[in-house]
Amino acid sequence: MPRFKNMLLIYPEFPSNTYWSFKYALKFISRKSAIPPLGLITVAALFPKSYNLKVVDMNVESLDENDIKNADAVFISAMLVQKKSFDEVVALCNKHHVPVIAGGPHATTSHQDITGVDHFFLGEAEDMFESFLNDLENGTAKHIYPANRPDITHTTTPRFDLLKLKKYASMSVQYSRGCPFNCEFCDIWKVYGRKIRLKHHERILIELDTLYKLGWRDSIFFVDDNFVGYKQKVKEDLLPALMQWQKQHKNIYRFYTQSSLNIAEDDALLSGMRNAGFNSVFLGIETPSELSLKETGKFQNVKTNMLTAIRKIQKYGMEVMGGFIIGFDNDAEDIFDRQINFIQKAGIPKAMVGLLNALPGTDLYTRLVKEKRLLNFSLNGSNTHRLQTNFMTKMNPEKLRIGYRKVLETLYGYNLKNYFSRCNKLLDNIPKTHFFARRVRFNEFMALVKSLSFQPFTPYGYQYVKFLIRNLIKNRKVFAEVVCMSIEGHHFYKITKQALKLGTIKSY
Ligand code: SF4
Repeated sequence: MPRFKNMLLIYPEFPSNTYWSFKYALKFISRKSAIPPLGLITVAALFPKSYNLKVVDMNVESLDENDIKNADAVFISAMLVQKKSFDEVVALCNKHHVPVIAGGPHATTSHQDITGVDHFFLGEAEDMFESFLNDLENGTAKHIYPANRPDITHTTTPRFDLLKLKKYASMSVQYSRGCPFNCEFCDIWKVYGRKIRLKHHERILIELDTLYKLGWRDSIFFVDDNFVGYKQKVKEDLLPALMQWQKQHKNIYRFYTQSSLNIAEDDALLSGMRNAGFNSVFLGIETPSELSLKETGKFQNVKTNMLTAIRKIQKYGMEVMGGFIIGFDNDAEDIFDRQINFIQKAGIPKAMVGLLNALPGTDLYTRLVKEKRLLNFSLNGSNTHRLQTNFMTKMNPEKLRIGYRKVLETLYGYNLKNYFSRCNKLLDNIPKTHFFARRVRFNEFMALVKSLSFQPFTPYGYQYVKFLIRNLIKNRKVFAEVVCMSIEGHHFYKITKQALKLGTIKSY
């Protein structure tokens, strides 16, 4: 019988005023969080059966202090943006003298600045977990279990059963870790490596089977940082297996993922993704400025005509969501208009534009330290993205701040006219595949009722009604998706309004 038997796994709260939280959209579909804490339930799967496990995702439920008191140890995993809540949980554990074990991106890159944690897992836990549990039992656990890049070919299925599934808008699975590229601002390739490690595709099918048996019927996010990092394997192993699985399950799941732009170079890959059920993909586009792309080492975007590439992906039935960055050394004063024009032209409704910030552990961070341009050595969760950067920019900071405000205001402000115009562009560009057309069930019907009884009376109500009528006529087949875009628009509108008022905007 282990001494440490009752383990509490906690996922701290995200700040709610972020674009990615989808807080204001989730209310329409009665869900609490967009995605589950996959890292935490992956760790949960590493415990032997003799342990009692409880997962508390503070984004969907509140943390009961009694759960901490009753636990023999607390595991906590967080990203930098969750730092505030992370610190509060650690303080509670310390108050009750419950040992704390921390892992995840925040612990990995900033453990030297974190207090109150007994044991750290840096990087990925799989290889060291068993020896850690033994050490813990024997009272010999070390303070730090250093970074490791385990073979994940046959990892066990994450403990989806520990989640309150109905609270989430989508589920997550992971096929690969690592990215072959080396963008200067990014810590992914530093933490997970440039050599792609994959799960065997059968493992993914087992995960889908598990979710299916648990009754999950909504969309699934492949959380891979670059889904096409190892294109050949994706094309030849995973996608045919997914297609087969979907066929056997009446094409039940709609998938989405993140990828580099070079996905557009490969027609077989794009058609394989479309046929397997992918209907949207997030791309790190960053900037239309070639000089800035070169500066940050994003050569895969320089090689191609980005607008043509985006159009091509859309033609394969996948919405493109885009990440954009402003604040590179080579950004001239016209960058704000260039970003706006590019995003509008490309028909990217969900364009996440952030100011460049130097994350610890990145090449950018190292360069800025050398150039003595870093302003805050220790980033905290509250300034992941503000209307300012954490280093001395080449552009006058006031010009940068004003220009950035203009970008946000134009994309999501006023009366959402530009947002709806991007949605229209996308809807007209994209073929109405089975996977793009959302199924209409009770939840979708209720979302429509809520939307119709609320959105016409908002400051953007006229544009909303115009958008609905236009697409009821033009894109009736995908009307449920049209409603969903309207609801997401409401979220972007609210967040942008708050951000511009407060002068603070967070993104993760
Ligand atoms: S392509 Fe994306 S994940 Fe890969 S290094 Fe660049 S920013 Fe990071």
